[in-house]
Amino acid sequence: MSAREPVTFSVEAEGVGWITFDDPSARANVLNSATLAALASALDAAEASAAKGTLKALAVMGAKEKIFLAGADLKLLAALPDTPAATEFARRGQRLLQRLAECPVPVVCAIHGACAGGGFELALACDWRIASDASVTRVGLPETSLGTIPGWGGCVRLPRLIGVQPALEHILKGQLVSAPDALRIGLVHEVAPVAELKARAKAAALKLAADRISTGSPQLAFPTEFLHERRAAVAKGEGRRNPALLAAIDAVERGAGLPLAEALKVEAKCFGEVAAGAVCKNLIHVFFLRDAAKKRSLDGWFGEAEIAAVAAIVERRKAGGMPAVQRIGVVGAGVMGSGIAQWCAARGFEVVMRDVREDLLTRGLDVVRSVFDGAVKRGKLTAGEANSALQRIATTTAWEGFETCDLVIEAIVEDATAKRALFSELARVVPGDTMLASNTSALPIEEIGSHVANPERTIGLHFFNPVSRMSLVELVIGAKTSAETAARVLAFVKGLGKSPVICRSSPGFLMTRVLFFYLNEAVRCWEQGVATAELDAALRDFGWPMGPLRLIDEVGVDVTDFIFGELARAFPERFERTSACGRLLAAGLCGRKNGAGRGFYRYDGKAEAVNEAETRALAGVGESAGGRRALAENLMRVMAEEAQRCLDEGVVKSADDVDFALLSGAGFPAFRGGLMRWARG
Ligand code: NAD
Repeated sequence: MSAREPVTFSVEAEGVGWITFDDPSARANVLNSATLAALASALDAAEASAAKGTLKALAVMGAKEKIFLAGADLKLLAALPDTPAATEFARRGQRLLQRLAECPVPVVCAIHGACAGGGFELALACDWRIASDASVTRVGLPETSLGTIPGWGGCVRLPRLIGVQPALEHILKGQLVSAPDALRIGLVHEVAPVAELKARAKAAALKLAADRISTGSPQLAFPTEFLHERRAAVAKGEGRRNPALLAAIDAVERGAGLPLAEALKVEAKCFGEVAAGAVCKNLIHVFFLRDAAKKRSLDGWFGEAEIAAVAAIVERRKAGGMPAVQRIGVVGAGVMGSGIAQWCAARGFEVVMRDVREDLLTRGLDVVRSVFDGAVKRGKLTAGEANSALQRIATTTAWEGFETCDLVIEAIVEDATAKRALFSELARVVPGDTMLASNTSALPIEEIGSHVANPERTIGLHFFNPVSRMSLVELVIGAKTSAETAARVLAFVKGLGKSPVICRSSPGFLMTRVLFFYLNEAVRCWEQGVATAELDAALRDFGWPMGPLRLIDEVGVDVTDFIFGELARAFPERFERTSACGRLLAAGLCGRKNGAGRGFYRYDGKAEAVNEAETRALAGVGESAGGRRALAENLMRVMAEEAQRCLDEGVVKSADDVDFALLSGAGFPAFRGGLMRWARG
């Protein structure tokens, strides 16, 4: 007996036919080869019923909890070999969806859950769209964020539905919108409570059939000036990195003036030009890296039996109503400690934060409050939610409250002696099974905690600054870290909504090591005479959000110089420490940290400019040989070579881990797909 089809067709007594997406082999409905074939069969059946006169109207719906139609299968897209194949891929999808548009009876689409890309293009080919009011319902055309364009009619039908300008803005933004927003901008006709969605879809279908109303296209206004300006802005900005943005403008602009069938041909051609290109493939790769991070496991880090045993422990705790971690202690209320406390409290954890003086705790709590205020202003939290989260943070200059923590995260100064002393003290005040994590940027966990009683509970948990915005967390496994500690902390990091990358404990782990090898090399170029502006512009041209010297100012010239020292100590044979940061510090130029306003740049409020006057005498004299591109590529090679060494030494397990970490923790340009993907060309 064959398995149930991913798309089925049935007809109710009143003559309403239902095309239902419910792939039995997956949690999400995706438009892959099997689903597309099943949709074609369902349409055959619907057309046959319509021809017999037994079908009055058709409704399309999904049966999944969270995802109605996630769009075209990205694996199919990633495998497109060239432009002709990509163009044909678009044409085939268009032809299938055109059958919905030309269906002899009215077609309603009932959307509950995500309805993205090809999924929303299917909805656009229907006569009427109703979305459920659930928060999981998000609709739209995100293709440009994946380096391609809507190629199954989206660039043609959306402008005809809501007008050229709003349609193009939606496509260029490449983001899904909620049901209320979809209603406001006209992507759907109605929003209904989830429980009423099916009945409302049926009612709408019967009404359309009875009224014989055409929901067809209005005459398109052609905003010439808007298109001209938008094209110029995109060509100067993001369009240099993502060719899909200009292709989308082409498809919308050229298609708007043509009959639908001709416009679809133009759209397929524009799709073909970008969908098989390198940027599209890179951005799809990045999408898969992000997906893999959500499923990160300890495979390869511990034996299979051990992993299975601890998974059972974590499951048993969960079944008993006990999450992997419940109550968090944070030691140090500085930049990182307050950031970690804020994020944990926002995610529902009880937190106790310690520092050595009340005024430092007050300063830390002020930082926490300002992050919550920002979240309220941006509509991420209500004032009430922010206030309750704030109440979840207790503070102390002693240790009260730590005895009931099951995880303590240390975030004091980056000093091995101080951290070691703190871990010894901690081991005396907390129970023997409380897990002890360090937020150290670079110190091996063994240097900090392997002497404490039960060192199997020690681990590194490297958050990035600012914690509220950076999703990456390096989970650092020391020589003595147990599988249970690693599993519980991994579950905790996922529960925080952060993206873990797992590293073996070693100096600088992955991120500090590769970033500071790169920064050290950038400083060397500066010492050899490459101007600040030129150096940073070269790396911005490569796609980084900021250049390396500007980044040093942000991290702090003091912290950078300190880490250079640590890396020189750890890798004496390779790391030739530059001296310029030391000279900047001696001249009082610390960067931007802690309110300081001078480093490689001068900062005055929001304004910033290269600090020529104070740094010229410290910089080298010479010129950049080979231009910006060569400069950037040389610096990136230094980073990639160090990352390769991390792989060779087993600090991380895969090139994908390196790529994901640099994308999410340092802003490596996504359109290049990842550091190792770029380096391996
Ligand atoms: P910070 O100087 O802002 O804060 C450190 C805090 O710890 C200070 O308030 C200090 O009073 C307190 N402290 C010192 N000894 C203590 C003790 N025994 N008990 C309680 N509190 C104590 O430092 P930071 O920038 O938050 O860095 C903290 C750690 O996080 C360091 O290991 C650093 O390398 C790491 N880190 C920093 C960043 C960053 O960008 N700042 C990023 C990632 C990791």
